[in-house]
Amino acid sequence: MILDFREWSEEILSEVVAEKLKHILDLSLKMLEKYPLCDNCLGRQFALLGFGIGNSERGRSIKMLLAMAAHEMALSPEIKVKEIGVKTLKILATRGSFKVARDLLEKMGRRVGGEEKCFLCEGIFENLQPVIDGTIEKVKEYEFDNFLVGIKLPVEIEEREDEFKAEFGVQYSESIRNEMSRVIGKEISQKLNKQVNYMKPQVVILINPFTGEIDLQVNSLFIVGRYRKLIRGIPQSKWVCIKCGGRGCARCNWTGKMYPESVEELIAKPILDVTLGEETAFHAAGREDRDARMLGGGRPFVIEVKKPKRRNVDLKGLERAINEYARGKVEVLDLRFGDKDDVKKLKGAEGAQKVYRIVIKFDKEIADEDLVKIEKELTGVIVRQWTPTRVLHRRADRLREKRIYEVKTKRLSADSIEMWVRCQGGLYVKELVTGDNGRTEPNVSEIINARAEPLELDVMEVIV
Ligand SMILES: [Zn+2]
Ligand SMILES: [Zn+2]
Repeated sequence: MILDFREWSEEILSEVVAEKLKHILDLSLKMLEKYPLCDNCLGRQFALLGFGIGNSERGRSIKMLLAMAAHEMALSPEIKVKEIGVKTLKILATRGSFKVARDLLEKMGRRVGGEEKCFLCEGIFENLQPVIDGTIEKVKEYEFDNFLVGIKLPVEIEEREDEFKAEFGVQYSESIRNEMSRVIGKEISQKLNKQVNYMKPQVVILINPFTGEIDLQVNSLFIVGRYRKLIRGIPQSKWVCIKCGGRGCARCNWTGKMYPESVEELIAKPILDVTLGEETAFHAAGREDRDARMLGGGRPFVIEVKKPKRRNVDLKGLERAINEYARGKVEVLDLRFGDKDDVKKLKGAEGAQKVYRIVIKFDKEIADEDLVKIEKELTGVIVRQWTPTRVLHRRADRLREKRIYEVKTKRLSADSIEMWVRCQGGLYVKELVTGDNGRTEPNVSEIINARAEPLELDVMEVIV
């Protein structure tokens, strides 16, 4: 049917509107006749009609119109009409817990029964204060700016509402879960003066209003930066003792770790001190060997602080604290706040270009032509490299192909040189020197036809 209002007289227009109004009121009264419903639960059945008002106001408005009509009928001299009016007021007072109707009946000297508990929410909407207070108590120890409320509902509550909607052919409703999450979220937002955030909430509060359970999911805080490792001999991340698996044994001197310190731990400790987090996870764009330094502009990293109690930390101050704590060993720079996506970006940056500096010692004196030969034969080549023998015990044996962009050399003594290599990330540079018994091709040892030993390795730049 096409509705063209221009063809209607005002008389017909009001008739059409009255028809719709009658439908809403008629349906609502039928619902209330059969089931007790609070303002929210009645209003929610028409949630998509009207904008910018709550379901509670919707429900109250409907009950008010019904009460007005019923009141008029109750004033009628005609006994039958009067009794229908009174009966309707009674339904509104008991099933609808509607005070206006109760007051009218009392004024008329009518007896009226007690209020009945809402069939759909079991009275929860009228009694949200305990979970709101409980939530506020629970989040007190955490600092955060935004949050999201998630609602857990007993299955029977959702099923009951579905059956209810089907029974009355409800078309314009929203779910009880939706409404509860919004109503509780709004209350908490106002009480704590914090924003609701749907995309990246710092804290997710999971509430079951029916059981009173409140679970907090405190999302991680991500701090992004770059680190420089100034000395050799410390691994990038904490290395659990291979003998005891971290429990502590004689081999690890009861520390549970292979090495007393790591880049990760040196950075994490001051961060945990200020954020009061439970633990950290360390992510970096690749890693240098334990005996290699990481110099230049540093290596990008993200540290994830789990369950932080403080988030609004002064990063400049934190940078100073880390550099003081790790003085002479590790330095951090350019700290900023990040998020999960920064971790993903790091993983993508693992193959980023690297610049290495490596000191090589040969078992014979080498000529100046040899230096030129190394530069020439390694610049612009693709290195074919099987997994190095030294890591075979923990990595699968496979072939990698990595590009070298540029090689520069400098003589240090008759039998030692310094070599700078700019290459694709993931190239094993020590094996590029030794050849690893032919597992890396080409290699410096083969080019010079001498045993070549890497003495010192530094990562000079990670180019992201
Ligand atoms: Zn209800
Ligand atoms: Zn151990």
